[in-house]
Amino acid sequence: MNSSISGANSGTTQTLMGGGGTEAARRGGVSAAGFIGAAEAPLGTITGFAAETAPFALTSPQIVPEEGARLARAERFELQAVARSILPGHRIRGCLLYRRPDTYSVEVRRSGVSGLAYYANLQVCGRGAVCPLCGARIAEHNRGEIQTALDVWRAFGGVPALMTFTMPHYRSQALSDNVPALLAAYRGLTGNGSYRKLARAAGLTYTIRSLEVTYGSRNGFHPHLHVLGFFGSGYGAAGFPERLPILWLAELQRHIEITNADHVLERGVTFQLGFSAGAEYLSKVGRAWGLAEEVAKANRKKGRGDHYSPVQLLCHVRDNTLPEAAVVYQEYAEASRGLHFLQWSRGMRAALGLGEEKSEEEKADGEDQRDAVLASITSEEWRAVRAGGWQARSRLVELADFDEDAALAYLAHLVKRFHQIAT
Ligand SMILES: [Zn+2]
Repeated sequence: MNSSISGANSGTTQTLMGGGGTEAARRGGVSAAGFIGAAEAPLGTITGFAAETAPFALTSPQIVPEEGARLARAERFELQAVARSILPGHRIRGCLLYRRPDTYSVEVRRSGVSGLAYYANLQVCGRGAVCPLCGARIAEHNRGEIQTALDVWRAFGGVPALMTFTMPHYRSQALSDNVPALLAAYRGLTGNGSYRKLARAAGLTYTIRSLEVTYGSRNGFHPHLHVLGFFGSGYGAAGFPERLPILWLAELQRHIEITNADHVLERGVTFQLGFSAGAEYLSKVGRAWGLAEEVAKANRKKGRGDHYSPVQLLCHVRDNTLPEAAVVYQEYAEASRGLHFLQWSRGMRAALGLGEEKSEEEKADGEDQRDAVLASITSEEWRAVRAGGWQARSRLVELADFDEDAALAYLAHLVKRFHQIAT
């Protein structure tokens, strides 16, 4: 390992001094030896492209990433590979594996917010419901925007409320039947005249609706909605939360057969007012793929009782601890195609100054042009990284979190091994 490190470092010096890599560097295609900011690189020789590629030496002090977030990222690489192995023909199969055609090289960057290293310039699947890596990036993006919306709303003097809408579900129901029924019932509710009148009187101005799907061996899929309601400062009109269950029951009855109406009236809707409810909503949005430290903890538990989130299902597939997990995940992937898991009510984003919503792919690529570029990896080198499987891709960014030299050495090692195997 030692010889590999020193070999890589001397390669850095040679490439940069000899000028052989300059053309590649100008295009952003720095060679394996071209990790920017490598300690041994003589400063004078890197200034030629330093201005274009923003070496991290010029950026603000490095943020130390949280250990929980690092573990979670590693687990996502692994679980994405698990998902890929059970979803033939799905877009996830190419996710974060191939360079975007409009770029010259795969980059390793370091987030100025979390301190975590990540890959940029790769194609992403953008299927946040199915792909752990895209899901986490999308959830992180959404959480940031929802937090902003809550802050703005607080400044306006308004108050949020968390509402949850559930439906009875049975093991025999297909997810492709009960998700559309749930969404249709909610659409029906919000279009219902009595509901609208009540909502207006209570000061309900905007909503963010998110769909969550869990699975249990006993009762099958459990799709449900978490709705964050934004109430104006005039909230207080009695009757809104009290009337919701009866209105919800009536809408559900239009779409599915309800055998136990009392159960729906008692448990079908919850209503929680206040900013602590807003915080709870935020944690739910991040929960699907478990952001940061919550993740590792949640995954270890593999679901409380008999309720598994998508990420927990993938853990079961990996560990072979729930016989039907793979089939259930495949059904979930198929049924979630084309669904909007998060929806802002009309006019809300503009009113709160959030601008147009990004596409799922844009959210999933997670790139911030202000982040420091630690390395540019050529297509040839990237092929070697890819050949190392998820373990290699995960390890490379883990090393880059703290030590570009170590990451560089590892990259050189991967390239060497790739050529050894190839010849
Ligand atoms: Zn993806």
